[in-house]
Amino acid sequence: SIPVSVHACAKTFADGTRALDPIDLQIEAGETIALLGPSGCGKTTLLRLIAGLEVPDPGGRILYDGEDVTRLAIERRNVGMVFQSYALFPNMTVRENVAYGLKVRRTAAREVRRRVDHMLEMMHIDELGHRRVDQLSGGQRQRVALARAIAVRPRVLLLDEPLTALDALLRERLRGEINGLLRGLGITAIYVTHDRSEAMALGDRIVVMNRGRIAQVGAPRDIYHRPASAFVADFAGTVNRLPAHLLAHCADARDAERASLPPGEPSGPSDFLFRPEDADIVPREDAHFIARVHASSFLGDRTRLMLEGVGDELLVIDCRPRHSLEIGAEIPIRIRPESLMRVPTE
Ligand code: ADP
Ligand code: MG
Repeated sequence: SIPVSVHACAKTFADGTRALDPIDLQIEAGETIALLGPSGCGKTTLLRLIAGLEVPDPGGRILYDGEDVTRLAIERRNVGMVFQSYALFPNMTVRENVAYGLKVRRTAAREVRRRVDHMLEMMHIDELGHRRVDQLSGGQRQRVALARAIAVRPRVLLLDEPLTALDALLRERLRGEINGLLRGLGITAIYVTHDRSEAMALGDRIVVMNRGRIAQVGAPRDIYHRPASAFVADFAGTVNRLPAHLLAHCADARDAERASLPPGEPSGPSDFLFRPEDADIVPREDAHFIARVHASSFLGDRTRLMLEGVGDELLVIDCRPRHSLEIGAEIPIRIRPESLMRVPTE
């Protein structure tokens, strides 16, 4: 059966704020769902409904393995939670924190010791067991929070921007570790983030949210290469809009047909989008158009060019970091037609 299933869950807060329109979502056993969207779009609210920290508006239902838990308190749902700010007990040791949930569940002392040892080892904090939590760094605290949440073997692990407060290097490293952990243990998890690279790296599926609604659900590649809307395309990464007058140059009818419009979308007026890495600098005779360099930034692994003179907006193109291109230089550009993404005009 399905570990977590959300049926028509809307949420209106007491002050009248409508945080969620009715949402439907099913989470498969062992998968990690990344909930991705801008601040204020309803990610935390949805997570709190799933956890049992909020009750949905009448009509909404949450099922765990087919069982209706909509009105069941969080303590009775067996979920693990990790937040951005460490909700640890500061005056307890690392071991006591990790053991906490197990003791509440009246686990036998020997089993508690065994599991805590295992969790500390897995999170690479076995040296820290007897330290008090308020003596730890931010990254170490998040390791403790993860160990504590996973120790109870929750039916679903809920993570709300757990790495946001950490610096970039640590964030990337812990992201990799969390990925290994979730996959290695086959944990069913929902990971909330506003960071697209985190969502791509961690999610088996990404649920993109916008203003209290689901904008698209799909594998990271689908979200990136087959966005359902300009909003999703934008949120998944940098994107260019192909000026309408260039469509005929850049793509024949077949290419436009192939261009990814997710199935089921109404066919109406469309815009064509492409990513910075899907255009090349080519010999003049192969070019779709000539553009002028407006700005150029060397990024180490690539050079990012802002181009003008094609349509109203600047185009963003990535190229190899070879000879520097001068501002004002005219360069011939070719777009890979198969990379064009079609979205409904907004
Ligand atoms: P996110 O986690 O995506 O940033 P939230 O779920 O926290 O978004 O918030 C969604 C919307 O609901 C926001 O407009 C927020 O201000 C509002 N909101 C969240 N919690 C409450 C609350 N307890 N009372 C009133 N409004 C709330
Ligand atoms: Mg939030």
